[in-house]
Amino acid sequence: MLDKVLIANRGEIALRILRACRELDIKTVAVHSTVDSNLKHVLLADESVCIGPPPSPQSYLNMPAIISAAEVTDAVAIHPGYGFLSENADFAERVEKSGFTFVGPSSEVIRLMGDKVSAIKVMKSHGVPCVPGSDGPLGRDNDENLRIARSIGYPVIIKASGGGGGRGMRVVHSEGALLNAVALTQAEARAAFGNEQVYMEKFLERPRHIEFQVLADNHGNVVHLGERDCSMQRRHQKVIEEAPAPGITDKQRREMGERVVAACAAVGYRSAGTLEFLYQDGEFYFIEMNTRIQVEHPVTEAITGIDLVKAQLLIAAGEKLPYAQKDIVFRGHAIEARLNAEDAKTFMPSPGPVKLWHAPGGPGIRVDSHLYSGYNVPPNYDSLIGKVIAYGDTRDTAIARMKMALAEMVVEGIKTNAALHREIFNHAAFRSGGLDIHYLERRLGLK
Ligand code: ADP
Repeated sequence: MLDKVLIANRGEIALRILRACRELDIKTVAVHSTVDSNLKHVLLADESVCIGPPPSPQSYLNMPAIISAAEVTDAVAIHPGYGFLSENADFAERVEKSGFTFVGPSSEVIRLMGDKVSAIKVMKSHGVPCVPGSDGPLGRDNDENLRIARSIGYPVIIKASGGGGGRGMRVVHSEGALLNAVALTQAEARAAFGNEQVYMEKFLERPRHIEFQVLADNHGNVVHLGERDCSMQRRHQKVIEEAPAPGITDKQRREMGERVVAACAAVGYRSAGTLEFLYQDGEFYFIEMNTRIQVEHPVTEAITGIDLVKAQLLIAAGEKLPYAQKDIVFRGHAIEARLNAEDAKTFMPSPGPVKLWHAPGGPGIRVDSHLYSGYNVPPNYDSLIGKVIAYGDTRDTAIARMKMALAEMVVEGIKTNAALHREIFNHAAFRSGGLDIHYLERRLGLK
């Protein structure tokens, strides 16, 4: 087993990783910025190292500081969590070259999937359905680009190959706007991602976001753990996620699952990963792969009984997956609500001291949060302060439990988006399930 793991992250996911390590008797090293010395996992870790001032580039994105923290503490592995350096192939490579185990896939696979054009190409070649599009990067030939758009049919979307976080995309509704949009997206992509390569896809008008979770070991074994529906989004940020996705049949799950597993096996994938799809009119279209643990992993854990973070650590230690696809059983329904320190109406961040925190509980309720009464939410990072996950034998039970949990929960001192969640779980439309990715913004009057 791994002797000591350095957790290169903060907040709820750092605490989640610490708990998985504790369960496996792995010693932990927390690294933190100067404003984060009172984070819950820092207080609980076996050792902690301050790696820099509050701005992320000088701390949580500071590769030499993180690697030297691993060196001075004799850690053997580094878990990157999500966000920060988790999908940075250069970081994974530096970790490997410095003699540590990176808890995730190889740097080559991260690099391959981090470039969307190459990710789409490799997925397509292994039978994963993709959005009709340019089949590669757009060139300089205007007539050719106009021809591609005409053959796909408007509206189309121009996307940066190196894009992420919902940036570097532009929708084009008619031919007159195409060439300008391509040039603008290229210029933006060059400035933002240092890579001006862009590609074109059919713009789907009312898709749902459905993603498949995979788990792969270092011995060629790959399984999928079913899908999650993450269509409730605001500004491309997920707000609520659930598993299974309402209305997806066992047959669809099996068929897509098989393709996803075959593609991951073919690229030599290792660790936990997610293939994101848009789903419209009964068809799945691959858009990108996330080569890390995701915020919404607990809903999959709830319906499969598999601890994904523990699995990542066991895989990193070289163990084989202890189950085959036929052993994976989906049971019940789980929903996650992301809690943010922000105003429920204006979405303005609301950092500051937490005067009182009372976590909800009861059957089927899990709360992953680093909050405690007296903790001060710093203004420097993402506003996620925790997640409430409700599980039940049916979707209706999960929703009923979620509503109870949100009613019981108390956060005083900072504003949170709990009121927005309470409202959504009461929408008849949400309760009927299967809404598209624009529903929430339409409902909020933002669209
Ligand atoms: P990012 O890496 O920035 O998250 P994605 O490729 O995952 O980029 O796309 C982000 C979001 O943009 C999707 O969840 C969806 O809302 C929208 N989107 C991307 N491609 C399309 C498309 N072809 N049609 C419609 N919407 C799209």
